[in-house]
Amino acid sequence: MGGRARMRALPAMPGLLSAACLIAAVTAGQAGAQVSRPEPEYTGTDRIEEWSERRILVVTPHPDDETFTSGGTLAILAANGNDIRVVVYTTDNAGSRDPEMTKDRLKAIRRAEEEEACRILGIPKENIVWLGHDDGMLEYVDRRDLTRQVAREIRRFKPDALFSVDPGSPWEQYHKSDHRSGAIITVDAIRAARWRLYFPELEAEGFEAWSVPLVFFYYSANPNYTVDITAVAEKKARASAAHISQFGSMVDRYDPEAVDEQRKEWAARLLARAERENGRVVERFRRSTAY
Ligand SMILES: [Zn+2]
Repeated sequence: MGGRARMRALPAMPGLLSAACLIAAVTAGQAGAQVSRPEPEYTGTDRIEEWSERRILVVTPHPDDETFTSGGTLAILAANGNDIRVVVYTTDNAGSRDPEMTKDRLKAIRRAEEEEACRILGIPKENIVWLGHDDGMLEYVDRRDLTRQVAREIRRFKPDALFSVDPGSPWEQYHKSDHRSGAIITVDAIRAARWRLYFPELEAEGFEAWSVPLVFFYYSANPNYTVDITAVAEKKARASAAHISQFGSMVDRYDPEAVDEQRKEWAARLLARAERENGRVVERFRRSTAY
């Protein structure tokens, strides 16, 4: 919720942590320490952007966090023929200052915007799973129920990789309620999906234990994996701008007549502002097998 606030939440310069420092901080083979210590830059040959015919699960607090942080990577994965499913914790029905906006109306707007963003990235709307919780209120949802909900989706889809918010990111820990809660619930759900006795009722429902082999955390303060998204940067900018109710004047007064024009303007701005490294547009993640 709140486009400008959310833009501030994006890690401005994740590259400030030099790869050399990270490599020095953690020696190879200390997988168990990866949660609490910065990880070394990933130098392996298994590159997700070259995957095809795999299952990718995205778990996002709001319908847009995954677009802003991972949209380019998801567009590449979709074009390569991977099956992508997006689980959204909230309906994002509170991010407006428009005096005439209502929660129900905003919920419908945000749903249509997410469907359009996913369509642009190559993800059909049927692949979006809405958990339906109120925007800003995720921390007040029963945590046991919420963890079981996400564990069920993990077991249902059996992903080869999962994308979600980095629970270790300082901004997310202190400033963003749904991100703070969602990040932690997701990693707890990954664990609950793996161990059959965590929620025996899931097994009774037919959802057998599933170990997620690989996670890409976005909004990370300790990224160790960079994807070159230059080829799809324009597509990502258009998908991000599809969330137009969260940008600029549309937050203060949502104008349905201005949607197309505003989307074009914001797509151009977002493309110009996109994070770059050596002239290439990039997305950065904390790639982890330890959680
Ligand atoms: Zn968010």
